[in-house]
Amino acid sequence: MSSQELHRRLSETQRSMGLATVYRQLRWLQQRGLVRSRLLPSGETLYAPVDHDAHHLTCVLCGNSVALPVCPMHDHPLPADLAGGFQPLFHTLEYYGHCADCQSDPDQPPSPTLPPAPSHPDS
Ligand SMILES: [Zn+2]
Ligand SMILES: [Zn+2]
Repeated sequence: MSSQELHRRLSETQRSMGLATVYRQLRWLQQRGLVRSRLLPSGETLYAPVDHDAHHLTCVLCGNSVALPVCPMHDHPLPADLAGGFQPLFHTLEYYGHCADCQSDPDQPPSPTLPPAPSHPDS
């Protein structure tokens, strides 16, 4: 086997092993509360360090996600009687709604809950 062939096989192995190893390590870290995961509306999972809790405002129209600078639940920790012995490592908080841009965008289609306006009311 040539050194080029060896190198090619090694890099192929490392690439296929690499992703699985990364996921395994992420999961290991997540189970110990060292890494947080966050599921986006798109189904994608984001991993981030647990340096502070994450709080986001996510727009369901444009997908924009804005992190809150402070924790809205800071003064309301998980009550012990609700936790039932569960020890929280971290939390995430997501508000879903319409961002200011989308609310003011006149090009947005009307809400599907509204019936369409009749075009010929007296036909
Ligand atoms: Zn928006
Ligand atoms: Zn918080």
